[in-house]
This record gives sequence, C-alpha cells and structure tokens, in this order.
Amino acid sequence: MGPPGAGKGTQAKRLAERFDMDHLSSGDIFRAEKDSGSQLGRKLGEYMSAGQLVPDETVVEVMAGAITRCTAAGGLLLDGFPRTVPQASALDEQLDKAGKPLDAVVVMTAEDDLIVKRITGRRTCGKCGKIYHLTFMPPRKDNVCDACGSELTQRADDTEQVVRERLETYYKQTEPVIAYYRDRDGLKVIDVDGGGEADDVLAEMVVEFDKLRANC
Ligand code: ADP
Ligand code: ADP
Ligand code: ZN
Repeated sequence: MGPPGAGKGTQAKRLAERFDMDHLSSGDIFRAEKDSGSQLGRKLGEYMSAGQLVPDETVVEVMAGAITRCTAAGGLLLDGFPRTVPQASALDEQLDKAGKPLDAVVVMTAEDDLIVKRITGRRTCGKCGKIYHLTFMPPRKDNVCDACGSELTQRADDTEQVVRERLETYYKQTEPVIAYYRDRDGLKVIDVDGGGEADDVLAEMVVEFDKLRANC
C-alpha cells in the first residue's frame, strides 16, 4: 500500500519475480479493460481520469475474479487493492473462505513533492508494462523499452493536477485501510520509506519477505 508514486508497481514487479509470486495491480487491470474499449472500460476511464476511485462493488467483483485465477507457488502480491475499508473487508471474506490468510501488509511512504516529480516523469512500456522515469530511471534509449524495444507511453492520469486529486483521495479513503490492518492482532505490517534509492527499498523488503518465508 502507499500513495501514487511511492514505488508500489516498481517494487512489486521485482518482488514477484524474486519470490515466484503472482502480482496483481488493480490499476493495470483497469487500464487494460479501458484499452479494450468495452462499456465497463469506458466507465472505469471516467473515474480514473478524474483521480477518483472506481466504486467498491465493481472493484471487488473484478479483483475477486482475478485473485481466484492466481496459482503461483510463492503466493500473491496485491498492488493497489484494497484501497477502501469495504474493499479490505471483502478481501478478508474471500481469503477466509479460501483458507488463505493475509501474511503481511507493506506500507510505502513518500513526500507529496517527490510524488509529483515521480508521477509527472513516469513512463511505462505499452507492451510489457515495465516502469521508467524520465530522469530517475531512464531507459537506455529515449522513449524505448530496454526489455522489449516497444514505445514508452505516459498515463493519461499522470498529470500534476490529477495526481493532486489522487493524493487527496488516498489520504481520505485509503489511509484508513492502513489503520484497519494495524489494529489487527498477529498481522505483520512492514513500513518502508519509499523515498530512498530503488535498490535499497527492494533490499529492505527482501529482508522482511525472507523472514516471512522462514516463519511459514
Ligand atoms: P497509482 O500508480 O497512482 O497508485 P493505480 O494504477 O494503482 O495508481 O490506479 C490508477 C487509478 O485506477 C486510480 O486512480 C483509480 O481511479 C483506479 N483504481 C485502481 N485501483 C483501485 C481500487 N482498488 N479501488 C478503486 N479504484 C482503483
Ligand atoms: P506506484 O505504483 O506506487 O504509483 P511506480 O512504481 O509506478 O509507483 O513509480 C512511480 C514513478 O517513480 C515511476 O516513474 C518510477 O520509475 C519512479 N520510481 C519508483 N521508485 C523509485 C525510487 N525508489 N527512486 C526513484 N524513482 C522511483
Ligand atoms: Zn517493454
């Protein structure tokens, strides 16, 4: 969990690879639906471009289906979901029924000014989804993905104006989810400063994930 630009997608991809986990990003799932041009996709696009949350009922339905299809041996890493308390309780219910408890919650933080710099400079590969930054994590060749050679694109909602909306939404609707998890006995909450160097942030998380592995 963490505000836009904290580095959730960047680190989730690396962790998922390292620990053989499925990685589900609700934002990526919604953008793919939007790009498909479906009626649902058009509806999702309206919320996303305004920096508002997609209604819980839709989110829970889409994410429940996606979670059910995950099979990786190392488990599942959720990125961007849940983002409201009702979404978190729907997830609890689904995981309880499946007998697969939540092992940990990772909370990443970053200062608002840094977030704006990160978000406005973010570029993503349209084909493989690799995440770059114009100055912090540039590709070797301008606008071309190092991994697959495709063109990089900028998300429509990655403007300063929309990111400020998304931050407001985050503080109002998503921070309470963190409190909801902190209050739970026996659930490990891993706090990480997302403002550091990407390799250092990853290393910190790997230490914590190794500990979790050792305990299960
Ligand atoms: P970020 O990288 O800024 O954290 P995401 O890619 O996770 O952004 O999400 C982009 C947009 O998709 C959000 O602003 C919101 O409109 C929608 N969205 C993603 N996940 C959720 C969710 N769990 N609940 C509601 N809306 C969501
Ligand atoms: P989130 O999924 O939390 O919205 P991303 O992982 O997409 O965040 O990262 C947002 C932007 O910041 C991207 O352009 C990414 O390349 C860059 N970024 C991520 N982590 C770091 C870091 N530790 N240092 C510098 N830039 C970073
Ligand atoms: Zn690529």
